[in-house]
Amino acid sequence: MTNRALPVAVIGAGPVGLAAAAHLLERGETPIVFESGDSIGANVRSWQHVRMFSPWEYTVDSATVRLLESHGWQMPPAKEAPTGGDLVELYMRPFAELPEVKNHIHLNARVVAVSRRNIDKMKDAGRESAPFVLHIAYADGREKLIEASAVIDASGTWHKPNPLGSGGLVAVGEQRNSQHIFYGIPDVRGAHSTRYANKRVMVVGSGHSAINALLELANLKQDYPETTIYWVMRGTQLQKVYGGGEDDALPARAQLGTRTRALVDAGLIEIVSPFRVSEIVAAGSAIDVIGETPDGQATLRVDEIITATGARPDLDMLRELRLELDPSLESSRALGPMIDPNIHSCGTVRPHGEAELRHPEKNFYIVGMKSYGRAPTFLLATGYEQVRSVVAALVGDWEAARDVQLVLPETGVCSTDLGGASCCGTTSSQPALLSLASIPVIGTALQPVVLQQTATKDCGCADTCCDDGVRSTTCGCETTCCA
Ligand SMILES: Cc1cc2nc3c(=O)[nH]c(=O)nc-3n(C[C@H](O)[C@H](O)[C@H](O)COP(=O)(O)OP(=O)(O)OC[C@H]3O[C@@H](n4cnc5c(N)ncnc54)[C@H](O)[C@@H]3O)c2cc1C
Repeated sequence: MTNRALPVAVIGAGPVGLAAAAHLLERGETPIVFESGDSIGANVRSWQHVRMFSPWEYTVDSATVRLLESHGWQMPPAKEAPTGGDLVELYMRPFAELPEVKNHIHLNARVVAVSRRNIDKMKDAGRESAPFVLHIAYADGREKLIEASAVIDASGTWHKPNPLGSGGLVAVGEQRNSQHIFYGIPDVRGAHSTRYANKRVMVVGSGHSAINALLELANLKQDYPETTIYWVMRGTQLQKVYGGGEDDALPARAQLGTRTRALVDAGLIEIVSPFRVSEIVAAGSAIDVIGETPDGQATLRVDEIITATGARPDLDMLRELRLELDPSLESSRALGPMIDPNIHSCGTVRPHGEAELRHPEKNFYIVGMKSYGRAPTFLLATGYEQVRSVVAALVGDWEAARDVQLVLPETGVCSTDLGGASCCGTTSSQPALLSLASIPVIGTALQPVVLQQTATKDCGCADTCCDDGVRSTTCGCETTCCA
């Protein structure tokens, strides 16, 4: 690393950005962490009411823990799962307030652009030896240019949610009717309860965020029985959505799916699928959601929409840097094939570090949630190993940088979107016929749809995920079944 006298800039004081700071401090480097929020962990705070599916043992970073423990901190029970709020208050905040850490963290400081000193994206000469320059916009209106020897971008994606429109575009009328739309996971039984109690609520999405929102709405419905819950998805592969059940090594993650399945089976959540949202139209105090179904256009009248359709990285601020991104995921190029949800549906991924995260721009790395681009399966344990490896590389410890080790709990899910095929050879059970009769439909009637449900896992050797013969960390198959 050149310009060693300059600090290493870390963008974002989320769990992974703070872990990067811990590894830098442990290596004798000076981090300078910029956080756009008015406190650390701003993104995690926005879902502080959500219980994580990972227990504490998978949500803390080794260097961060070492520093905390040197001040007498005690690890919460390893097997218990924290909420987002617990993660901030019991782990991230105590770390950020350590005397050797706190002066390195700058709050209310948004990084709006990153470049090299006097060198724009096109210029080659002197590029690698020039310091980075970060343009910082502070909440009080000040702006500053700060120099750094290297940049670790851990700014996450949660604050850049995908829109409602099914093709990745904002739906017609989405912005105009934004007062009816919540992006993320609202605090349904807390701060936002009046917004959803006894209302017709549509949850759009098929990942853990959607499932969390559905479960909370179902709890709310116990106290407010008029609450109606619609679950809108583009796809029909319910097994993938429900997860690996008892094959999932994280019981809390498995329960998300199994509890949702039970609520659907009991008729408390009504599935509308496949339904591709295209337009939102105001209808008095409610809204009409227009979407495409296999039988043509259909309209569903609701009061509120919860959009949990994933998130995407903010690449604007990196416009002057030379990046090599996966063309579909917007992750780093090498990481793309390892996490592509078109192929892999699981939260597990082969160990990776500096080499897979490298960009043509020397000494610049995207880590954490943002390193996965639009892929939804990021886990904190992955991010912690990423920053350990990246920091080792920055200080020239290439042996440690290459020695990436990551053991992640299997999800037990073996499905893929590819033509409905399964990467592990899951077999289909009887498809379930779901009645949509009770849904208030205006215009073209929604017909009952057949949702493909897969049952018992059968890890076949035709499994494309396992072609490499590695004990798969992407689809849950054993090496033996791929030999
Ligand atoms: C509801 C939910 C539950 C999850 N549960 C689990 C779980 O159980 N287990 C697990 O392993 N993972 C889980 N994850 C996934 C993942 O671990 C989290 O998203 C985690 O917060 C990612 O950490 P991060 O540090 O990469 O990004 P973030 O936590 O998103 O942090 C990024 C930080 O950067 C700041 N920032 C953004 N832009 C800028 C900028 N331009 N300048 C300065 N600062 C900026 C943000 O304010 C934020 O504080 C969950 C995610 C969600 C949303």
